Amino acid sequence: MIDFTSRQVPKADIAHQLDCIEQIHRRNALRPEPPHFYCQTFGCQQNEADTERIAGMLAEMGYVRTQDAAEADVIVVNTCAVREHAEKRVFGIMGQYTHIKETRTDVTICMCGCMVQQEHIAEKIKKSYPRVDIVFGTHMLWRFPELLLRRLNGSKRIFEISGDPKGEIAEGLPVQRDEGCHAWLSIMYGCNNFCTYCIVPYVRGRERSRQPEDIEAELRQLVAEGYKDITLLGQNVNSYGKDLGIGMDFADLLARLDAVPGEYRLRFMTSHPKDASEKLFAAMAGGKHICHQLHLPFQSGSDVILKKMNRGYTKEAYLALIEQARRYMPDLVLSSDIIVGFPGETEEDFQGTLDVVRRGQYDLLYTFLYSRRSGTPAAEMPDDTTAEEKQDRFNRLLQTQEGINQQRQDAYQDKELSVLIDGLSNGKQESEYTHCGRTDGGLLVLVRGEDLHIGDFVDVEIEQTSLRALYGRVIGKGYHG
Ligand code: SAM
Ligand code: SF4
Repeated sequence: MIDFTSRQVPKADIAHQLDCIEQIHRRNALRPEPPHFYCQTFGCQQNEADTERIAGMLAEMGYVRTQDAAEADVIVVNTCAVREHAEKRVFGIMGQYTHIKETRTDVTICMCGCMVQQEHIAEKIKKSYPRVDIVFGTHMLWRFPELLLRRLNGSKRIFEISGDPKGEIAEGLPVQRDEGCHAWLSIMYGCNNFCTYCIVPYVRGRERSRQPEDIEAELRQLVAEGYKDITLLGQNVNSYGKDLGIGMDFADLLARLDAVPGEYRLRFMTSHPKDASEKLFAAMAGGKHICHQLHLPFQSGSDVILKKMNRGYTKEAYLALIEQARRYMPDLVLSSDIIVGFPGETEEDFQGTLDVVRRGQYDLLYTFLYSRRSGTPAAEMPDDTTAEEKQDRFNRLLQTQEGINQQRQDAYQDKELSVLIDGLSNGKQESEYTHCGRTDGGLLVLVRGEDLHIGDFVDVEIEQTSLRALYGRVIGKGYHG
């Protein structure tokens, strides 16, 4: 029997962090005005969720959030390493933030997240960014209060990136969620898949699942606080529970969470095709709160490239899987990730990708040009395709998807959809459509009607469509589950 409790940070260590929060809070309470913090997040939803934890800790310490980095006393930049472009942007922005310290020497500048978890990046910050005070990796996030207190007490610059290679799960620390009716709920951390192009397993460690009762308790709290659109997060949610040894898989977890009463929607990301199952689709179709939305990245439509990527499925197996999902949920909204220009990709391989795009009929695609990540196996693979050729393939992919997108959007004309209003729309052309929201499948709808409020579930009849959004008028109100 696996001792799964060992992966949780001991309660005494959490108590120590809470004590550090309290010490900083007492210090801040003596100031005539509360100090400010500023956070900037790069990358995926997991990073956004991590930033919400950092923001929660800073708020408990007595810092007030600001949208202006120049007035902040603590600046936190949460970084991404998935593509080179994100890393370049981070270094660009760090120049601006460290500049603030020329006039305000007491500002504390922190960098965290996937990018700084890499040794060579930490070294670069050490040498070239002397005004950065604290650098902490993904496994160290829960220790942020202790690191900040040490620096405020006059310690020299802090670099904490090694951590426990298994990674740990910290429960019981505060969270400050972004305003609105949407919330992230992490169900697991890390990744075991080692797709050959991807840096994530190296910087986020091995898969580790939270205990189902902790996840359920957090969901109950979110529902009680009025959150209506809750996304379960994990790099590969379909392998949830494998490390727990309690005989519970992701479909079981979904069914357990779906039983939590309330007016809310539950969605999740990301699913890996090799672990997605009929049991999952049945749980989605049979749920009361579970959205009929699936993000199922296929990356490439060539079996040769899929093998080189170590993805663990073939093109036809993937297509059969989405057919199965649609049999259970004919109204499924489907999206995917694609990488163009993986090392050795030929025109024929790329045609396979276009074929999946045409047959898959996606509502949304996230398309990426392959980015070489040092330390990953793909970085060592021969790559003789020119940058121009890759760009040309990328453009053709976008064109193909654009036509499909328009057709799929047009198919919603005159349909009735349940929409959760989550904001005000802006822009002249949309002036009549004062509010915006999301369908169960996550599609953007601009809405017109009387007496609308953020957080309302409304029934909308679609009057117009565009590539970007659907437009509709409210014909009814209420949550239907
Ligand atoms: N765990 C998720 C999965 O397997 O689908 C996604 C995690 S990753 C942050 C999101 C997407 O980034 C991947 O699906 C992939 O398409 C893309 N990606 C990852 N590494 C990349 C690289 N080296 N170059 C280009 N795109 C990459
Ligand atoms: Fe990266 Fe693959 Fe893990 Fe997704 S499943 S995070 S693409 S290694």
